Amino acid sequence: MRAYILIPLLLILSACSSETPTPVVSPGDPAPDMGWELHGNDTGEQRFSTLDLINRGNVDALGLAWFFDIKTPRGVEATPLVVDGVMYVSGSWSVVYALNATNGELLWEYDPRVDRAWLAKTCCDAVNRGVAYDNGKVFVGTIDGRLVALNADSGAVAWEVITIDQNKPYSITGAPRIVGDKVVIGNGGAELGVRGYVSAYAAADGALVWRFYTVPGNPEDGFENATMEMAAKTWTGQWWEWGGGGTVWDSMVFDAELDLLYIGVGNGSPWNHTMRSPQGGDNLFLTSIVALRPDTGEYVWHYQTTPGETWDFTATQHIILADLEIAGEQRQVLMQAPKNGFFYVLDRRTGELISAQPYTEVNWASHIDLKTGRPVETENARLFDGKNVSLPSNAGGHNWNPMSYNPQTGLVYIPTMQLPSTFLQPTEAKDSLPGQGYWNVGFDRVAMAPPMGVDVADAIDSTVRGQLVAWDPVRQEPRWASELGRAGIGGILSTGGGLVFAGENGAKGEPGVIVARDAKTGEILWSHGVQTVAHAPPVTYSIDGEQYVAIAVGLGGGAVAEGGIIVHHWGVQTIPRVMVFKLNGRQQLPALPEIDRRWKKPPAVTGDKQQIARGQAMYERHCTYCHGAGLNTGGITPDLRRSGAAIHEVWQQIVIDGVLASAGMVSFRDFISPEDAEAIRQYVLLDANRVYAAQEAQKAGSD
Ligand code: CA
Repeated sequence: MRAYILIPLLLILSACSSETPTPVVSPGDPAPDMGWELHGNDTGEQRFSTLDLINRGNVDALGLAWFFDIKTPRGVEATPLVVDGVMYVSGSWSVVYALNATNGELLWEYDPRVDRAWLAKTCCDAVNRGVAYDNGKVFVGTIDGRLVALNADSGAVAWEVITIDQNKPYSITGAPRIVGDKVVIGNGGAELGVRGYVSAYAAADGALVWRFYTVPGNPEDGFENATMEMAAKTWTGQWWEWGGGGTVWDSMVFDAELDLLYIGVGNGSPWNHTMRSPQGGDNLFLTSIVALRPDTGEYVWHYQTTPGETWDFTATQHIILADLEIAGEQRQVLMQAPKNGFFYVLDRRTGELISAQPYTEVNWASHIDLKTGRPVETENARLFDGKNVSLPSNAGGHNWNPMSYNPQTGLVYIPTMQLPSTFLQPTEAKDSLPGQGYWNVGFDRVAMAPPMGVDVADAIDSTVRGQLVAWDPVRQEPRWASELGRAGIGGILSTGGGLVFAGENGAKGEPGVIVARDAKTGEILWSHGVQTVAHAPPVTYSIDGEQYVAIAVGLGGGAVAEGGIIVHHWGVQTIPRVMVFKLNGRQQLPALPEIDRRWKKPPAVTGDKQQIARGQAMYERHCTYCHGAGLNTGGITPDLRRSGAAIHEVWQQIVIDGVLASAGMVSFRDFISPEDAEAIRQYVLLDANRVYAAQEAQKAGSD
């Protein structure tokens, strides 16, 4: 891909050389600086850098050059951009920082001042996956749905537009993409019930140029275009009342060569297909890759990965463009490893499926039929009895953490995970109705919760796994796979130095590391502690002949908010930060703050069995997404079991009256009755007393 772009560039440069004298580069002069100017580095979002100053031979000398403490303590998922020696990086709550990329000096910061109560409209923490840069402007999508253009020199707002109906539970976590003279942005919210779309705005002034909906609206309102009319034929029932879903919350790639914009479309609202579309149907364009005309937003082609989506199988995952030789023919391809567990290679001119094979454990489909392009589902794929195990889970075999394609090895490096999950049809009547205004996926979440009264950390250690898989996209098979023994590997960077960089989770309760592996073998050549969790993808750049590797770190995001149990981060601190490494870097991180983890004696339980069971059900329905399944917080929200007597006294004011709304804990008056709030409190007390008693018994045993 890169080679094909470089050739015309060189031709243009040499054509201009009669007027513009070529700068003289003497032997020994440092190579020109190389930044990381686009979200995925190159136009195909391969996340591969040709830089090789850091390589297999010297990577063991890599040390910390500088670090910058991000000021908002929530999850960090951003790809930092580096343009002309300046790093533009976003933290949680969509705050943007401009840093001197050589030493980390803060040049400016921009805080969109998002109302913290917006947290209730997010599925997966107040994260942001990065900014876009173009022609002296930095663009950021804010969690409350704005698209903001900043002056790259000063951080001053050049223009700002609201891209969503702010009365609805939309949010933006994804990075905008530059598409010619436009900026394109999607949104999230399919877990709360919205209709997905992408919008293109003029980069110059923020004027809306076009909008493409990914699912049809109510036919009675008229369709926006013939494409929506076509898509509506694949839906049944009153899907629009549920929103339909199909949010484009992450991947989009602009292909200037073919004049196409590819968007990755998410899951249904709600997940449960039988509620969303009761008489069946594929439900276009859920879980699809859709190619649009960048100037008009006009539909060109689509490929749907999971017809009749029902497992939260998004196709929003990282899309990579490359040119591959397949069966003796040079093909312009698009590659994706969506949540559903299959690795797809498509012809990106036409959307034709070239090949698909499972990159992880899959039990919902036996294979993809290459003739029809459709998955062949297994017999119990849609058995939702609360017992049948689905693989991949709703978290996916691969989630938002970007892959990397290295044209030198011909491999795609995929961060994968295997976590079993079960689904149960709703048992509470109102969960079968649309428009409830809360996280409602159309399944009973209690079935997904761990059983009461067990140490979940130990229980899941045996069932949860993660790998870094080096995938051969031509042969559709792994070349090597590193077994991490636990879920949780971050996004990937591969380099011309023969290296693959990625953050990896630590062992249970331990902070994570950033690791460099040999791109050909997977052998670990270097690692460095990050004191927290490293899930965002590393990037690399060079300034004045020195190569840097940067990663934004910090505990948070969906894997922590909802899935604290999945990634077992108890005890790991948030510590959001940008960490930058270079050869012989000598900087040290400050010592980790000591935290007293002993359990204090909780108040006594006063409720009965029935009340506690009701409390657990209500907790799993309404509280688990932030406070963690089975009361196991991922670490960015309080562990409710640690609530002291003072909190228990004002429990009703917090849950019902919303006195902590400014901290993100909004009122649940519309969903939870005062009696149910008290039932939740009793459930919390029961488990708090259990863990306290376990701690005391252990103490007594060791005395
Ligand atoms: Ca989802």
